[in-house]
Amino acid sequence: EGDSPEEVFVGAIDQGTTSTRFIIFDRNGQPQAQHQVEFEQIYPKPGWIEHDPEEIRSSVSTVLSKATKNFLDQGRRMRQLQAVGITNQRETTVVWDAETGRPLYNAIVWADTRTTETVQQLKRRPGSDKIFELCGLPITTYFSAVKLRWILDHVEDAREAYNEGALMFGTIDSWLIWNFTGGINGGIHVTDPTNASRTMLMNIRTLQWDQELIDFFDLGKVILPEILSSSEVYGKMSTGPLAGIPISGCLGDQSSALVGQQAFNPGDAKNTYGTGCFLLYNTGETPVLSKNGLLTTVGYKFGDKKPVYALEGSIAVAGSSIKWLRDGLGLIKESSEISDLAASVEDAGGVIFVPAFSGLFAPYWRDDVRGTMLGITHYTTKAHICRATLEAICFQAKAILDAMNKDSGTPLKVLKVDGGVTNSDTCMQIQSDTIGLRVERPAMRETTALGAAIAAGFAVGVWSDFSELSSINQEGKDIFEPAIEESVRDERFGLWERAVRQSCGWLKR
Ligand code: ADP
Repeated sequence: EGDSPEEVFVGAIDQGTTSTRFIIFDRNGQPQAQHQVEFEQIYPKPGWIEHDPEEIRSSVSTVLSKATKNFLDQGRRMRQLQAVGITNQRETTVVWDAETGRPLYNAIVWADTRTTETVQQLKRRPGSDKIFELCGLPITTYFSAVKLRWILDHVEDAREAYNEGALMFGTIDSWLIWNFTGGINGGIHVTDPTNASRTMLMNIRTLQWDQELIDFFDLGKVILPEILSSSEVYGKMSTGPLAGIPISGCLGDQSSALVGQQAFNPGDAKNTYGTGCFLLYNTGETPVLSKNGLLTTVGYKFGDKKPVYALEGSIAVAGSSIKWLRDGLGLIKESSEISDLAASVEDAGGVIFVPAFSGLFAPYWRDDVRGTMLGITHYTTKAHICRATLEAICFQAKAILDAMNKDSGTPLKVLKVDGGVTNSDTCMQIQSDTIGLRVERPAMRETTALGAAIAAGFAVGVWSDFSELSSINQEGKDIFEPAIEESVRDERFGLWERAVRQSCGWLKR
């Protein structure tokens, strides 16, 4: 094996909500070596979800070593690996001590709802009505600044560090980059606009921290990361098997999937079905503020180029409801079993499942809802419940698509999909039936990691124009076409909407 000029590779760290992977891609976007590990989901109380930041960091070290060994075992050399990109679960909030480098609390995960009361308090503050206009996000439990506010209000150690000006904040991207570029020994503290756009502290137009937002949340003494672009050399890996390799790509997972799916043109959209489900619709170089419950977010910003924005519909619970059937109820042994069980019945037998374990996100934004199942009879079997679970994911995606069509004015024609749940053919068929649109699933499903690899590769010249990517991952797509009557579609969705209305207000305020 020689190092002919085309033999270059780019690595992507994909630090997701339930697992961490490292994938090494070739220039054609094909994975050549990879490793994945799961890590602990910590549920201290109902509605609380935490990760241990040290475990996250060590999970990354593990996947880097294992995948790299695999890569070298294939006869490849380290110097063929040109760059590393990072993509990560967004919003999840980490605080650490600038002097010791130790986390001051567990990471509060994006879907955590402990901040319901904090949200009520924040909404009563003067200026709360201007927040959406500044950052493109509503005040909810979802975003980092709200979680950070909660930490400062409830965690003594964090408050002390804050008062001493030693409290570092970051989303997972920043936590990892800081650690892997040296930590307390010169680690760099950076983030990119796609991650920063989920904190509520970044101005959606300037793509820099906004003093008005910082003041609103009263976070003036927090050490914030510097916001750089999504594709440029931030620094080099300081230790481990990748020491010396530049880290040159950073994208929040959903933005990364947008890039990985090559949704580069206004009007392109992708939907990623992982733990949650996130539909992003490229709106081009201007931010569009939604009138229908969607979020404005940054799609990507490559180097000095103009940023590309997206409208986003976020669903808190998608794959995690399947995980709950498996781990919480023991109804299935493997996630993959849901597909055949759900396909064994013609419909959900009248059961509607609203898996609002973390309230309902877009387009509803209700934090007074919890999960509920309606329409159960003696006839109901676990197959119906499995089907209702997949339908719930698809109904929520339809609600978002309807909002998206209203905001954008141009109805979507094709939905590009990826993420763990899309392994279920049954779910993808239900999705196509529910929205009445073609659903397109690429052969290579690691589009989130691919996006980060693309960002990292662009910064070091592995690719220099989007057109060079156009053949990536185009072959072997699976297509799902709608196969039910419109009247059936409307009737089923009508039932879903009724179920949502019924479940709202369950938690009294
Ligand atoms: P994340 O990046 O959020 O951790 P992934 O994209 O890895 O998520 O997707 C994981 C989710 O996909 C899990 O919640 C799991 O239940 C679901 N999943 C995995 N395989 C299947 C399958 N064959 N059928 C249905 N769901 C699946």
